[in-house]
Amino acid sequence: MILEKSFPAMGTINSITLFDNQVPDAASDARSYLVGLNRAWTCFQEDSLVSQINRSAGQSPVAVGQDTLAVLGQSKAFGEMTDGAFDVTAGPIAALWKAALQRGEIPSDEEIWQAMALVDRNDMILDEAAGTVLLRRAGQRIDLGGVAKGYAADGLRKRLRQHGVHRALLNLGGTVAAMGCAQPVGIQDPFRPTGVPMGTLMLEDRCAVTSGVYERYRQIDGRPYHHIVDPRTGFPAKSGLASVTLIGEDAVRLDALATAAIVLGLEESAALLASQGIEAVFVTDRGRVLITKGLKREFQLLDRRTYTVGADASAA
Ligand code: ADP
Ligand code: MG
Repeated sequence: MILEKSFPAMGTINSITLFDNQVPDAASDARSYLVGLNRAWTCFQEDSLVSQINRSAGQSPVAVGQDTLAVLGQSKAFGEMTDGAFDVTAGPIAALWKAALQRGEIPSDEEIWQAMALVDRNDMILDEAAGTVLLRRAGQRIDLGGVAKGYAADGLRKRLRQHGVHRALLNLGGTVAAMGCAQPVGIQDPFRPTGVPMGTLMLEDRCAVTSGVYERYRQIDGRPYHHIVDPRTGFPAKSGLASVTLIGEDAVRLDALATAAIVLGLEESAALLASQGIEAVFVTDRGRVLITKGLKREFQLLDRRTYTVGADASAA
């Protein structure tokens, strides 16, 4: 028997499909795990743990649980790995552009400089022994939007395994994990409405994470802006990539690196991903599709467009 559950959390629709539904508690436990992470990590709620850390910046350490310490520790490492293209302390810039996209008005240079000056992952003090987090300077902000779903997908797999579930498909708003099974997964077309795929990927016992500039996108004064920011410029990333789908083992790494790839662009991110053994489908903002060699058999484009195999610098 197949059990499927869908529910909202983390600003998206999540679904969990259990292929051998011998464990009745597994799905509801999975659901409460996600709802708990969302409650702690959302930036949209004043009383969330992350809001508390941000409010306490420059003042006092905040006590946090294991998951929060873990995701922040990993995020710091992804910051090093991507040379700051992914930065969990990019909160001030991300918040500035979130507000700008809502208002339909771009921030002033002054606001952008001020926000950029607050971004520094080395100012995030994680005290493992005390179980606390402190941002050194007032105004600094953590934003887990770029890794939360990936971390949640990994945590969920662990919990399901503890329940004795070995075959399942998880979909957390586009962050997909096929556990112990092979499943075809649609990859969102960055130029079409949500839900319209451009291709399918046969995902076997791995995770796939997509980041794109089409989400929360808006034209302001005739120019496109979106929600992934480049901490080095203070502006939404403009690297020539419309979307990136990464395929690999841990969703949290894929999530951080997918966000970073949008910032870094094709050439730089292809080199980084290759060094990490991660496969990728890139879509450029001109609609060109490039895939890494390892996906030749797994990936299929749905329409008549062609794609290039070997998404390295020479193919760009
Ligand atoms: P989504 O969650 O929309 O699928 P991402 O994983 O790419 O896509 O995360 C984007 C979110 O990450 C933004 O909404 C923002 O909260 C945060 N963010 C934006 N730019 C960066 C960045 N350079 N580094 C870390 N987090 C970022
Ligand atoms: Mg991400």
